[in-house]
Amino acid sequence: MASFIPVSDASDFSFSNLPWGAVRWADQTTHLATRLGDTVISLNLLRRAGKFASFAELERDTWNAFIDRGPEAWSAVRRELQNLYREGSDWISSPQRASCELLATEVSNVLPVHIGDYTDFYASRQHATNVGMMFRDPANALLPNWLHLPVGYHGRASTVSVSGTDVVRPNGQRKGPNDPAPVFGPSVKLDFELEVGVILQGGPRDGTGVSVEDAECHIFGLVLFNDWSARDIQQWEYVPLGPFLAKNFASTLGAWIVPYEALTEARCAGEPQEDPMPLPYLQQDRRVSHWDLTLEVAIATADGRETVVSTSNAKHLYWSFAQQIAHHSINGCVLRSGDLMASGTISGDEPDSYGSMLELTWNGTKPIRLHDGSERAFIEDGDTVVLRGRTTKGPRIGFGECRARVLPATPWQK
Ligand code: MN
Repeated sequence: MASFIPVSDASDFSFSNLPWGAVRWADQTTHLATRLGDTVISLNLLRRAGKFASFAELERDTWNAFIDRGPEAWSAVRRELQNLYREGSDWISSPQRASCELLATEVSNVLPVHIGDYTDFYASRQHATNVGMMFRDPANALLPNWLHLPVGYHGRASTVSVSGTDVVRPNGQRKGPNDPAPVFGPSVKLDFELEVGVILQGGPRDGTGVSVEDAECHIFGLVLFNDWSARDIQQWEYVPLGPFLAKNFASTLGAWIVPYEALTEARCAGEPQEDPMPLPYLQQDRRVSHWDLTLEVAIATADGRETVVSTSNAKHLYWSFAQQIAHHSINGCVLRSGDLMASGTISGDEPDSYGSMLELTWNGTKPIRLHDGSERAFIEDGDTVVLRGRTTKGPRIGFGECRARVLPATPWQK
């Protein structure tokens, strides 16, 4: 099925995608929107033109209320959009149509959901192994719990911003293993983390949790996510309660949430989990537990030129999103619509598939060379980090960009 709006083969926003986003429209108000090629379509204005009669939630400025309606509503709106914009549709010549569309260059993206809570997991075995080798003990890189449960921590929703928002280098406290005392100042090991997040529909309010079998019914869509990290601050502060100020200064969310339903053909098997077998509440059919999504990270220097520094894939996660959701809610923790759960850094087996500078440069000991001959151990002021992701096989469905430029730390004086 094709649309009457032309979409290039190289576009992430094919007719099979129809992502959920939010934009600042020409009238300076926020509209829920979708995108086809370079055309952004306001669902808010489509509704005012008489479409989506039973979905008043599309006139809000976040997707939360619509997410609450559940998977049947999500499918219904996708079907109506596909029907409106298919080749041969009468809508092409409707006088109301033009006012509902703008070019992507004419709008700016804003956060598509109000994120009440954000949780970050640690679900890639290669990433956890690499970090364990560098931060703790190469002989016992994985802690004893890692193969038994999806390790996670509660992140900070207030500092999640949409792609395109600058990130200020954090100030903080650090102390290397051989330093006599901690020092304070701008982080000298600023890093990205290549992650995929899911935006959730809420779970039962009575604390009965979401089973691993039902978990995917709660996934509204998938989105790119950069969980910015200050490795020097992290290494000093993280024992015993885990990440804190090294993580919560900024996180960057991709602008477009790719619908769960759009990614059916990208499903793939996950790594078998037999040694050890997870406890029963985490056991699932691994044949279609994952998504085959090509992911990449580029660093752009101030002149705008990019160097791709990592190519990875979402199938490298050990713990699936369904397992993360089931584990998160098994204790009675209530999930709410709009919550963000992110995978943790997704690193493949090969050194050029690692999803952070910490791993790519092995904690700064093997700097990466960029297109202009300059080297990076970590991210420098003026650098822009760009994550991209798309389906590996079948019709191209992609996430657009998750992009942020790093600004110098704010001077601090007592
Ligand atoms: Mn992370």
